[in-house]
Amino acid sequence: MKTMISITKKPWFLALLVIIFASMSAWNIPIEKRKYGLSQSGLATDYTGLLPGKIEQVIPSENIEQLQKIIKDSNKHGKHISIAGLQHSQGGHTYYKNGTVLDMKNMNKILEINEQEKTVRVEAGASWGDIQESINPYGLALKVTQSQSIFTVGGSLSVNAHGRDIRNGSMAGTVKEMTLITPAGEVKKLKRGDQLMQEVLGGYGLFGVIADVTLELTDNDVYSMHTKELQTKEYEEYFHKAVENEKVGFHYARVSVAPGSFLNEMYAIDYNVTGEKDNSTPLKGESAVRLSKFALDLGRSGGRLEDFFWESQKQFSRSFNGDTVTRNNAMRSESDFMEFTVPGRVEVLQEFFVPVDSFEEYINELKNTLPSNDKHEDFKVHNITVRFTERDSFTHLRYAKKDMLGLVVLIQHGVNDKQMQHAENMIQKWTEATLKFGGTYYLPYYPYQTKDQFRRAYPEWEAFKEQKKRVDPNEVFVNLFYNHYLKD
Ligand SMILES: Cc1cc2nc3c(=O)[nH]c(=O)nc-3n(C[C@H](O)[C@H](O)[C@H](O)COP(=O)(O)OP(=O)(O)OC[C@H]3O[C@@H](n4cnc5c(N)ncnc54)[C@H](O)[C@@H]3O)c2cc1C
Repeated sequence: MKTMISITKKPWFLALLVIIFASMSAWNIPIEKRKYGLSQSGLATDYTGLLPGKIEQVIPSENIEQLQKIIKDSNKHGKHISIAGLQHSQGGHTYYKNGTVLDMKNMNKILEINEQEKTVRVEAGASWGDIQESINPYGLALKVTQSQSIFTVGGSLSVNAHGRDIRNGSMAGTVKEMTLITPAGEVKKLKRGDQLMQEVLGGYGLFGVIADVTLELTDNDVYSMHTKELQTKEYEEYFHKAVENEKVGFHYARVSVAPGSFLNEMYAIDYNVTGEKDNSTPLKGESAVRLSKFALDLGRSGGRLEDFFWESQKQFSRSFNGDTVTRNNAMRSESDFMEFTVPGRVEVLQEFFVPVDSFEEYINELKNTLPSNDKHEDFKVHNITVRFTERDSFTHLRYAKKDMLGLVVLIQHGVNDKQMQHAENMIQKWTEATLKFGGTYYLPYYPYQTKDQFRRAYPEWEAFKEQKKRVDPNEVFVNLFYNHYLKD
């Protein structure tokens, strides 16, 4: 008995208990899939579920002729259409009160892969994952995507998304040709440089339906991964060196939001070109979902557990230093572990962009804007990653007027009126701090910002609105985003 008691006091025994407890907890974590999207009951929502809206009907897309007919009919009878891809946008971009929703997911064919020219022609409802599966065996890869491959081509081009590649400019810049069905129901073949194509890219589904697209591809390069821990004040210099170093293909960084190192510590991850190409490594799937969710949930608890989470993230980043990864796999980060289904609370994304050389001052400003310890706050910041977005000269509502660093922020808050109001106040303050440095914020997310903040962030809004009037005088294509920011 005595021996038993003395064993329970040993540090290794306690450590063993913690490991067993953590493994059991992780194993029992339910990985529920969030319920959102287009329901048969006539209510639509998108990824956050924050803006449920009554719609008239959902029409699954079939082909160009079917879409033309729907659009012509709607134009003639003064009806409204919204376009939905996989609905990861969060501000009602894919539906409108009592309108028709075109669900583009069925138009997901890979139409042609041109190995010599390194291009792929795809229907707009295809996801990046669908394309990766078809081009991986040819040793080809996409030039620009988000970090995950769970979005449609049409939806991603309509928000002009960006990811971790620091060499290939904007996603819009990788489109060679596209087939568009205009608000009048005409089918137009557009080429790079055509004005209408520029309006559609980053046009939030307001200028017509993208039916198919020809995208430029590149080689499925192999990268070696390098991690570096640093202070936020050192990052600008580090970043300039990383970008100037031709070997870096992908890059991103993570800023601490844990109380003990709040906005002071960072770690950066660079993917250096090795010179090798790959056409045999299989595409990776989701792995260790429960463990990742367990770790994220520790961070979500705030306080000391968040400090622990930050330390374990740094430890994890050290563990893959020197590993290699193919370009296709670097563009397929896990997403299932992020699922969040606590009743009465919501997890949303926001993204703020600031010019690269303002990063240090901006972070200092944020230290005065946000609480460093949000354990007991309703509005909680769980994660900030930093990405580079090259100056965009293609689209009209441009978030990258110069070379910018984007802070992608994962936030949780409650959904009663008071909590929503508080979240809105916090994000408006954050937006104000961003505008002070000549920054902008990303538009596919929930619109906490005021109309005035939108206009200051996107001074070209008037030209965008004029073009919308010219291309779609009867407002065939509308959505809640348009209603909130652009309608008179
Ligand atoms: C977990 C998560 C991670 C994300 N990560 C990133 C990231 O790394 N980088 C980034 O830039 N963004 C990111 N986003 C934002 C995401 O890229 C956008 O929400 C994008 O729109 C998703 O594509 P989708 O298929 O879900 O589009 P939807 O949300 O379905 O649609 C978006 C817009 O495109 C329009 N649209 C859709 N299909 C068509 C079509 N065929 N023709 C014309 N218009 C169309 C819609 O009307 C709508 O205005 C992320 C979002 C989430 C939820």
